[in-house]
Amino acid sequence: MTAFTDAEPRAIISFTGTEDIFDTHYGIPVNPTGLESEGLLALGHLTDRHVLAVTNAHNRRVWGHRILPSRELDDLIPFSTKHIWILTTRGDGDPYDWEYEEAVADAEQAQPATLINVEWLVYEDDAVQSECPACGKPSRSTRGAVGPGRTGWGTYHRCRACHHQWPAAPAYPLRLERERTWPVAGDGSCFACHCLPDFPCSDGCAIRPDPVIGQRLCTRCRNQHPPEIWQQLAAVAYGTARQSDVRDEQRDRWLYSEALRGIPPAQAAQAWSRRVTQTAQRAAARTTATTV
Ligand SMILES: [Zn+2]
Ligand SMILES: [Zn+2]
Ligand SMILES: [Zn+2]
Repeated sequence: MTAFTDAEPRAIISFTGTEDIFDTHYGIPVNPTGLESEGLLALGHLTDRHVLAVTNAHNRRVWGHRILPSRELDDLIPFSTKHIWILTTRGDGDPYDWEYEEAVADAEQAQPATLINVEWLVYEDDAVQSECPACGKPSRSTRGAVGPGRTGWGTYHRCRACHHQWPAAPAYPLRLERERTWPVAGDGSCFACHCLPDFPCSDGCAIRPDPVIGQRLCTRCRNQHPPEIWQQLAAVAYGTARQSDVRDEQRDRWLYSEALRGIPPAQAAQAWSRRVTQTAQRAAARTTATTV
């Protein structure tokens, strides 16, 4: 579900809440919204009590974690909850593809909804503590997110102080040998951002094989780093992870986003190794502490 992006008029539909695109908590249909699921959209104008109940239930059942008491939770009702009216349209074909836009209350076919911003809530999380590479503040929570340098969702920390987002190091030991195997992008997509020839990520974006990295890269991704940085990224084996290896994918994300902050890839690769080792030690220490 996304906000409207095209001007093409499409038929307005009204949801009853019984569609299986919704999760239902306490009889209230709810759907995550926003690129990083930072919001919840519930049908109807919810009471304060229902906002709290639905937010708690959604996180427990869908994400498997509890919301912890925090100032952000105290602020949920007064500052992060909005009663709105929405117009919804369905995409072509896929029933899960639908969009909404806010409307005025008396718009034809507008239906009441409650938008809850859950972005800043504090969750119980089994993430291993990791220090923000930009400002040093520790983070103890992670979320699934899309970031630069690698296709698909990864696990990220996000700094509450400076908002920098960085890939979480996996909590198991580092593999010292790296095999150079090249995943094949059968659909001709850009290796890093996954844009497609028919669906470019930006105007004039073209995808072609990059001789330095040995992968298809789109114009925008290639332009995000100067050639010497691409060379250095390739030298530390960026982009050679097997597609199934989550650890190496996280490393790719790390190398790329550190390069975007001006950290030389060789230095970033060393920092990553240290982080993986440290994370494994922290995870092991915690396991020992909780099983004793
Ligand atoms: Zn920070
Ligand atoms: Zn790209
Ligand atoms: Zn592109």
